[in-house]
Amino acid sequence: MIKEFDNLEVWFVTGAQLLYGGDAVVQVDGHSQKMVDGMNESGVLPIKLVYKGTANSSAEVTDIMVRAEAEPKCVGVITWMHTFSPAKMWIHGMQKLRKPLLHLHTQFNEEIPWDTMDMDFMNLNQSAHGDREFGYILARMRKGHKTVVGYWKDEKTLGHIAVWERVAAAWADAQDCRIIRFGDQMNNVAVTDGDKVEAELRLGYHVDYMAFSDVMPFFDSIKDSDVDALTKEYFRLYDHNKELEDKTSLEFKKIWNSAKAELALRAVLKATGAKGFTTNFDDLGDVNVEKTGRGFDQIPGLASQRLMAEGYGFGAEGDWKTAALFRTVWYMTQGLPEGCSFLEDYTLNFDGERSAILQAHMLEICPLIAAESKPKLEVHHLGIGIRKTPTARLVFTSKTGSGMAATIVDMGNRFRLIAADVECIKPKPLPKLPVASALWIPKPNFEIGAAAWIMAGGTHHSAFSYDITPEYWEDYAEIADIEILHINAQTTVANFKQELRINEVYYMLNKSLK
Ligand code: MN
Repeated sequence: MIKEFDNLEVWFVTGAQLLYGGDAVVQVDGHSQKMVDGMNESGVLPIKLVYKGTANSSAEVTDIMVRAEAEPKCVGVITWMHTFSPAKMWIHGMQKLRKPLLHLHTQFNEEIPWDTMDMDFMNLNQSAHGDREFGYILARMRKGHKTVVGYWKDEKTLGHIAVWERVAAAWADAQDCRIIRFGDQMNNVAVTDGDKVEAELRLGYHVDYMAFSDVMPFFDSIKDSDVDALTKEYFRLYDHNKELEDKTSLEFKKIWNSAKAELALRAVLKATGAKGFTTNFDDLGDVNVEKTGRGFDQIPGLASQRLMAEGYGFGAEGDWKTAALFRTVWYMTQGLPEGCSFLEDYTLNFDGERSAILQAHMLEICPLIAAESKPKLEVHHLGIGIRKTPTARLVFTSKTGSGMAATIVDMGNRFRLIAADVECIKPKPLPKLPVASALWIPKPNFEIGAAAWIMAGGTHHSAFSYDITPEYWEDYAEIADIEILHINAQTTVANFKQELRINEVYYMLNKSLK
């Protein structure tokens, strides 16, 4: 189990019926309890399973599903049909259940007991046909779910359940998620914008705007002593040149300003209960800040880096979709080792088969992906946006290895999730570009990977993780009921174009649009 998911539960419900007599159901119940205990003790599942008993009638199924919906700790339901469980009795319950559903096709016994098996044994080990009956009703209802097939003690089977549990938990988190935008979209930018009403209906999170005039009371309430303490904490946590600690220097003042901006942002996020935010370098409050000291003297880059590492969603230039997606990525990968970040396609490096894309931003890259154990705190001039002044930032390069970049775009009649396999490689030093960065080669190669992403309408921003596998995004898209395009080692331009065309028709005909 993962500590961060301690308060969450996944309910396990076993389908049966009373045809074989009460004794059979008692045995089914015993088997189910043993399986749930065994799976919980496996050490593979990040969220505990809670066995909710056998469901033997339509009324019992409906009762369990209504309770699952009402229980805040429950993030999803796993069903398994130990015996034949006539599936009409699942119709009403499945109509009630809106939380993520996983259908586990397994069996209590691993192998057939060839020498001893009789009819009684078969009554109790009928998932081979019981799970098919249940599968039919889900197919007939067009009900989204994940099907996992395998022996319940097998690590591979448990691994599929573990991924789904993490995605289900992140889904629950998104249903209670508020993203605050400090400033609007960057003017005229299309891909980071979209339908916020539909996003709340379909993806769960809520997006609010906060004017800088509303940020100022929080800014003014920050005590100098707290800023001093946070500045000291920076020097303790991060590598830095000793001169930065000179309190008479401009560099020190800029670090102090960054600390104050961080405390102001934290105060806003705490007061609003927001789980993510966006910034916009064209909207930073009072233009006379250098004279008045009231407001942000530069985009709060260091604050964004540090808040991302704690799990706050972040999107630059008002990109609320990426802020929410980063929050989801961070949430579902809690306890996993390699880290995640908001990233931007910055500039290209043509080098034949090693052609790659430098991932960076003005400042805001999450230190969870840093190769160095201690990122470096530096102060440099930043000339983009409305302020032309130096500011603090953490500088590092990313780990190498495989990962996934993801984005969600609004296609007008639906949301489209684009997920791409990428390989992070070692960059050369960037002495004149003192920002955090990563360098990756898209799969199957730069030419096809970048073409597919661009043809799909993918953003220049993404939520990136080393820990996520394609199965996470497959499960996420299934739960959200949105389009998914996965760019990977098998992608060809011709097949990808065909997929785009087929999806266009599917979503035109499909009643559930976005
Ligand atoms: Mn950007």
